[in-house]
Amino acid sequence: MKNCILVLLILYSTSAISQSPCKITYIANEGFLIKIDDKKILIDALFGGFDGNWCDKPNDDTKSKLERAVSPFDNVDIIAISHKHQDHFNAEMVIKHIINNPKCIIVCPKQTDSLLKSYSNYEMIKNIIIAITPAINRDTSLKIKNINIRILRLEHSHYYIQDEVTGLKVNKHENIENIGFVINVGGINLFHCGDANPWKEEEYRIFNLNKERIDIALLENLFMNDSQTKEILNNYINPKNIILMHFEPSNAQKLKEAVRRLKRTYSNVYVFKKSMKYKNIEIIKSLETE
Ligand SMILES: [Zn+2]
Repeated sequence: MKNCILVLLILYSTSAISQSPCKITYIANEGFLIKIDDKKILIDALFGGFDGNWCDKPNDDTKSKLERAVSPFDNVDIIAISHKHQDHFNAEMVIKHIINNPKCIIVCPKQTDSLLKSYSNYEMIKNIIIAITPAINRDTSLKIKNINIRILRLEHSHYYIQDEVTGLKVNKHENIENIGFVINVGGINLFHCGDANPWKEEEYRIFNLNKERIDIALLENLFMNDSQTKEILNNYINPKNIILMHFEPSNAQKLKEAVRRLKRTYSNVYVFKKSMKYKNIEIIKSLETE
């Protein structure tokens, strides 16, 4: 009897382990459908319909399913949009999806909301849009349908062009409002950085995602560029699983090399090569049983 009590005491003092699956479907570029428990979130997924081959785009069938909000894009709870660029956001597609799924909530920067405002259907959908642009180096938190969302202001990566008047090099993306999302569903933390600038150490030091225990980080592939960005990744994000995104489809070699380099530090690195492929990631959670 004494032995039995001892065994029970040991069991109760040890943390129990539970596993939760997270299904991640790659749409294109930085667009994903995330499914955890009964929640569905689309991030940067409703885009397409433009020329250019610098990124993957949803094909006509996927685009139509996204607009009609049919399986697997039915009953989406949240549409998160990092910024207004056309390889992340298409206002018409977002409006069509919402008309077919009026229960979902949109979270986006104010600049992105301004583009939606120019559509005649805006009055119909404005109540389900949460437009937030935190100030530089600031963040804010929301709870929507039992999903916790931390919104981080992250500088858009730089892109230099020559100013026609002055001849000086200027950062074309300087005024783009880009936000990152830390999404928590049922204890699983997922980080999506949008088109963040991975060299902006100050931001990652301030937000210190390392403290939050990031289970899955969806990262702009520029994070793999050099030792400085990898140090930022190690010190301030330190995710358990990494999905790299934002590759030029023609640059398969760069993709292969990036993964190989990263695997020296992180064993759980994934890159999707085809739209609508998915991956189930098991997240082991420790449950305190005091
Ligand atoms: Zn962008």
